[in-house]
Amino acid sequence: QFVCSLSSDDCHTHQSPINIWTKMALYDPFLKPLKIQYDPTTSRKIVNLGHCFNVEFDDTSDMSVLSDGPLNSRYRLRQFHFHWGSSDKDGSEHVIDGNVYPAELHIVYWNSQKYESFEEAAKHPDGLAVIGVLLKIGEANPVLQTIIEHLDDVKTKGKEHSFTKYNLARLLPNDLDYWTYHGSLTTEPYFECVTWIVLQRFSRPKFAYMNRSASYSREACASILVPVFL
Ligand SMILES: [Zn+2]
Repeated sequence: QFVCSLSSDDCHTHQSPINIWTKMALYDPFLKPLKIQYDPTTSRKIVNLGHCFNVEFDDTSDMSVLSDGPLNSRYRLRQFHFHWGSSDKDGSEHVIDGNVYPAELHIVYWNSQKYESFEEAAKHPDGLAVIGVLLKIGEANPVLQTIIEHLDDVKTKGKEHSFTKYNLARLLPNDLDYWTYHGSLTTEPYFECVTWIVLQRFSRPKFAYMNRSASYSREACASILVPVFL
């Protein structure tokens, strides 16, 4: 297991995302492998937020949790979402050695050992942990196809649809080596409350892009593009 930390000593703030220069990352022998416990019965619904969509989970108990790795507490699964661009040449939030990837999956957890709720946790530096998975174009992936089929059920901002028994584990690469640093939310309110865990291996879903602005959340963002998985 190879894990490393990124020093942010020379940064004045802890804003994310960052450009990860792999040669600058320091190997930390005290970091542990990630421990991901996932129960598919916790997936609840898919929600159109206007600028993107979230898949949300039942986070009333510690059924789907993340621990170990760089974390000192147990973190409970809240939601996941994607970032993508207008072509294969941009989309990911994290940049690795200057390279941008077509899309990035963010799996969001909150510290349920220390805090009462996601909202409370987000106010503290150790409140959230997010796993970032860079996506490359590659193999067909039926678990991504399931998401795309449900996007038609939530075409406009604020709409939601049930989304149950989802096999999130199949979106992750087999190898969970990671880079980690302390950073922030990458959307408003940009709180510096996130332990980022960016996986070093890629997932390779097979997808192309199609502009869905006509049917998908036009009122929120005219240029939204939705990945279409082939
Ligand atoms: Zn995100």
